[in-house]
Amino acid sequence: MILVTGGAGYIGSHTVKALRARGEDVLVADDLSEGHEAALLGAPLAKGDLKDMDYVRSLFEGRKVEGVIHFAASCYVGVSMTRPGFYYRQNVQALLNLLEAMRDAGTKTIVFSSSCATYGVPDEIPITEECPQNPINVYGTTKLVGEWMLRDFGRAHGIRSISLRYFNAAGADPDGELGEDHDPETHLIPLVLQAALGKREKISIFGDDYPTPDGTCIRDYIHIVDLAQAHLLALDAMREGKETAHAYNLGNGEGYSVAQVVETARKVTGRPIPAEVAPRRPGDPPRLVGSSARIEKELGYKARFPRLEEILETAWQWHKAHPDGYGDRETKGEA
Ligand code: UDP
Repeated sequence: MILVTGGAGYIGSHTVKALRARGEDVLVADDLSEGHEAALLGAPLAKGDLKDMDYVRSLFEGRKVEGVIHFAASCYVGVSMTRPGFYYRQNVQALLNLLEAMRDAGTKTIVFSSSCATYGVPDEIPITEECPQNPINVYGTTKLVGEWMLRDFGRAHGIRSISLRYFNAAGADPDGELGEDHDPETHLIPLVLQAALGKREKISIFGDDYPTPDGTCIRDYIHIVDLAQAHLLALDAMREGKETAHAYNLGNGEGYSVAQVVETARKVTGRPIPAEVAPRRPGDPPRLVGSSARIEKELGYKARFPRLEEILETAWQWHKAHPDGYGDRETKGEA
């Protein structure tokens, strides 16, 4: 059995779907604070909070957990800057509990959601895994601490791990069953598409005085289905006992500015998307573009949807069909 924490979230749910599609036995651990029960598509759920050690231990009791994919985390750069304590508890304490429970249960394999935010302001583009990791926001720091914990638990207890350093996850399940639904939504692409739908008056562009060609921040967007596939490859490589690196980047090697994303979304949706320039958001590096060359070479990764247009198209299909996301706002309460 594969334990998927955060399996009801955006990246987790797409990965759970891919795992089950190939017949894996999956258990999802999620507190549903940000994830959605509907996104499980019927996968079994053990609801709880990974900060609670008794709950974490219970996940391993009476089951043979062969491997863990750890998505559960908080992922808002902006909030992480004002609530560092919360971010350390959510992202560091939870992983520590998980690793101690794995150690005690004898589970030796984990795939970890790390982030390009661990690089901070990079010296070179595209970013390779060898680039120094100096995060400039708390979210990135918590992910870097996670990588270090995995390394230390690997050395001491033989737990094998692969950290996947994602660039910007975007897009939706091409079958239309799953998509992106955060509350509050802070990510660029869903906000732009909500503006296209008329659910938002306009989009704010956070800063147009960055040292980039059009002055807006550049990011590397990667399709959610490609990200999900990379987790399966990482899991398989460890299962097969292949030699693997400690970490792999997952980007498309292609950067798009915020202004370019808005412009491409106007084309894809055929709708006007009003945009206005707003102040910079603290913690945003000007340019993040990643090279996936290592995972391509070592694990055979290949992106199915590398183009921004395709990413936006699948996301647009989801947003049009689900203007209120999974529609569970009322039942979710204050979690
Ligand atoms: N961004 C923006 N307006 C928004 C939301 C995001 O200009 O309403 C910018 C943000 O400053 C960053 C880029 O879009 O440069 C991507 O931000 P997002 O929050 O989607 O992902 P992040 O890069 O923080 O993981």
